Amino acid sequence: MMNRMMTGKLFVLSGPSGVGKGTLREHALSDIPGLVYSISCTTRQPRPGETDGIEYRFITHEKFTQGIQQNLFLEYAHVHDDFYGTLRADVVNELESGHNVLLEIDVQGALQVKAKMPEAVLIFVAPPSVEVLEQRLRGRHTESEAALSVRLKNAAGELGLKDKYDYVIVNDDLEKASQELRQIIL
Ligand code: ADP
Ligand code: 5GP
Repeated sequence: MMNRMMTGKLFVLSGPSGVGKGTLREHALSDIPGLVYSISCTTRQPRPGETDGIEYRFITHEKFTQGIQQNLFLEYAHVHDDFYGTLRADVVNELESGHNVLLEIDVQGALQVKAKMPEAVLIFVAPPSVEVLEQRLRGRHTESEAALSVRLKNAAGELGLKDKYDYVIVNDDLEKASQELRQIIL
């Protein structure tokens, strides 16, 4: 059988928790025709308002481990106490259909993707300051105090890897940051 060409482009968005990745992703998906989002698998519990198959595929540790053994993941990582991963088949099918694909994944996953698919475009979202990052994360009211402190502690390590990315967007003014993301993708 002939190999199908992957004519779509792959974009990878990363950044510390609370920086605004989800918000920027929503803007990009509603603004940019032909851009699709790859829904990740995770072992974390859904937050109030999250639905299985929409924000994530919420799966058990056992299922996640099976997926690793069966080599189903393009990348996966242990992030803030849970496993998160991208299914390879989903991404490849979309790229072969000519769609541009957006992943929103952590820094470890992004570097795995770049190693396997060097043509992937890596975009890092940075906060204007660590103080603003903490305010946003607290303002979202989605994490316990313990989960917040894990996420803030991990932010420093994540910020240290931003030079490995093709682009860095500082999410200060949301409209401006959205425009920058749009320009990179287009
Ligand atoms: P992430 O997906 O990176 O964890 P979110 O998109 O959930 O972050 O954003 C965290 C919080 O910050 C949300 O309450 C969101 O509305 C808010 N936010 C996002 N971008 C900005 C911005 N540029 N200015 C102010 N608040 C923002
Ligand atoms: P949250 O629990 O806030 O939804 O996500 C926590 C972190 O996991 C974020 O940095 C997010 O980008 C990352 N993440 C989400 N999906 C994936 C994935 O499929 N793979 C990897 N490596 N990280 C992911």
